[in-house]
Amino acid sequence: MPVHELAGVPARLVPLLHRLGLRTAGDLLFFFPRSYEDLTRVCRISEIDGSGPVSVCGVVDEVELRALGPGRTLLGALIRDESGALRAVWFNQSFMQQRLVRGQRVMLSGVPKRRGLGWELAHPRLVPVADDAQPTAGPMLPVYPLTEGLVQGRLRKIVHRVVAALADEVVEVFPAPFLTLHQLWPIGRALRAVHMPQDSADVRESRRRFVYQELLVLQLALALRRWQLQRTERAPALPATAKIDARIRRLFPFELTADQEQAIRDIATDMGRCIPMNRLLQGEVGSGKTVVAEYAMLLAVAHAHQAVLMAPTEVLAQQHFRTLGEDLAQSRVRIELLTGALTGTLRQQLLGRVQAGEVDLLIGTQALLHEPITFPQLGLVVIDEQHKFGVRQRAALKSAGSDPHYLVMTATPIPRTVAMSLFGDLDVSTLRQSPPGRQPVHTYLVADAQRDRWWSFVRRKLQEGRQGYVIAPRVEEDESASVASVEEVYERLVNGPLEAFRVDLIHGRLSPAEKEAAMAAFRRGATQVLVATSVIEVGIDVPNATLLTIESGERFGLAQLHQLRGRVRRGQFPGYVTVFAQPGSPAAQERLAAFERSTDGFELAEIDFALRGPGDLFGVSQHGMPPLRVADLQRDQQLLVEARQDAQALTAGDAPPFFQEEFAALRSQVLRRYSAALDLGDVG
Ligand code: ADP
Ligand code: MG
Repeated sequence: MPVHELAGVPARLVPLLHRLGLRTAGDLLFFFPRSYEDLTRVCRISEIDGSGPVSVCGVVDEVELRALGPGRTLLGALIRDESGALRAVWFNQSFMQQRLVRGQRVMLSGVPKRRGLGWELAHPRLVPVADDAQPTAGPMLPVYPLTEGLVQGRLRKIVHRVVAALADEVVEVFPAPFLTLHQLWPIGRALRAVHMPQDSADVRESRRRFVYQELLVLQLALALRRWQLQRTERAPALPATAKIDARIRRLFPFELTADQEQAIRDIATDMGRCIPMNRLLQGEVGSGKTVVAEYAMLLAVAHAHQAVLMAPTEVLAQQHFRTLGEDLAQSRVRIELLTGALTGTLRQQLLGRVQAGEVDLLIGTQALLHEPITFPQLGLVVIDEQHKFGVRQRAALKSAGSDPHYLVMTATPIPRTVAMSLFGDLDVSTLRQSPPGRQPVHTYLVADAQRDRWWSFVRRKLQEGRQGYVIAPRVEEDESASVASVEEVYERLVNGPLEAFRVDLIHGRLSPAEKEAAMAAFRRGATQVLVATSVIEVGIDVPNATLLTIESGERFGLAQLHQLRGRVRRGQFPGYVTVFAQPGSPAAQERLAAFERSTDGFELAEIDFALRGPGDLFGVSQHGMPPLRVADLQRDQQLLVEARQDAQALTAGDAPPFFQEEFAALRSQVLRRYSAALDLGDVG
């Protein structure tokens, strides 16, 4: 039923409800409170200690209405119980005076504030109480998100009315035995309890049911997607025979680490089957993911299939093209680069050759996705630095033959719970150890007063032959002057501490060619110091660069800082990172302190996650997934693990229980919510 047809909703409020996304009675039922005002604690006036909201019961004594100015009033009342008195005040609500009858007993609820020697309640909730009634507990009031023009009390009334009328009409998605088994409250009870709780147990249990349901629906969607891919898609089986394995390894300039070996085994097992691989390779910056991807790609090529490697930026695509090109110089593998920079006839020619099967390895950026390319035998798609891509862009690359295997790589360690939710449909391989011979990296959070010391250290290292980066935030014009922009920083350095050195500037507004030229000069050492925005954040690999200076460090996220640090953690020399920061928010300071303290990306990811608090973490919606509405991946980890296990159990086996009739309602909920995002088609 649309909201405008509901009793008790005046026409004036309809657009406001719409603005909150509330169009139907059903929307209202599932519009969950953001928090609660807990007024259940009833106490005597003398027992008020200011620790939080309370309800007190007393008799109205004095009432006074004062005019404060044109149209502004202050209504005050003194309320007494046998232990003392407190003042209640209302601004501009003179109508409340009618409800304040001297001698009347009332219950007042609110958050008491100290006023002189006594307590004051501003705008308390007021309920008359019969003289002989013994007040039990005060209310537990839901607090809903609001929009301008709609007040809390009004929205509460609207929701309560709908809940009272319709809560028991809502279809239960869980079969009764399932509810019992998982100790979940039935939908009607849960809805009433979430909107009109009597006590904190109501809040806890109703919330638990909805959080579990939301997480289970998500996990079922992910499980279904997996199930469906395994069932419907057919990939070429590309096993790593001993001969192929030896041929590939000959091309690598180093021994692989144990983690790399394990990842390669995982991948080779996946690719050896005709079910498409769907694997996430996560590993710290510099942990050596590229060579693992290279193995996978060469495995495809060895079986006369094509492989594609997509990088998030031009610079990275070029770098991959170069590294792979070096490794493959002595082989017959045909490798090409396709980025946005390649246009016109050259582009058409390249595309023609790709489609004719004359290219074995195609390296590129998202530009690859702009036109549909059909490969004759696409065996593998590798997506580097997953975080910069939407998760679900895989459909754009097609093969004339069967479906390709997928490998996505990320250097941003993902908190476990987020991985389970965003990437729950992927298998995961992790590179934890760094390649051998890695030097430590030292991180310093430095006060402005020490700038001179740092720059003289930098000069010494530059003279020894090292190179360095200086990173500053990109600056939009209207931003505060306290933030150093790249251009300013560059000017300051070349006219100051680094004037004797070869310094260059690279930022997002340069053309791809200019960027590549700047990178090339830096790579061959022609440039000693590169001043940059975070364009160098991902993937750039210049082992001789060991010095990193970060300006306005409070402006960067923890993951980003850690990514940046990865740039000077690459060669046989120790790295030095110095962060200059303005005193920022407490969260920013904790971020910086954590960054200085730890170099373990997985640990930092968990800290970052905790610091960000609840909300749409890691931009679940950026990944094309609908946002979670009640669950909080930080707070609800336990339920997430439970929901994940349950989802797996429900979808396991040849005849998964999930496809039985009793789960039809749950199934349609899963599809309604996730079928578009996860391309679930018409499963079940
Ligand atoms: P990332 O995981 O950040 O993509 P890269 O693949 O770029 O890391 O590797 C970082 C550097 O480490 C590269 O210079 C690469 O050649 C080197 N490297 C990778 N694996 C090994 C190894 N097993 N032994 C020695 N060096 C390695
Ligand atoms: Mg990389």
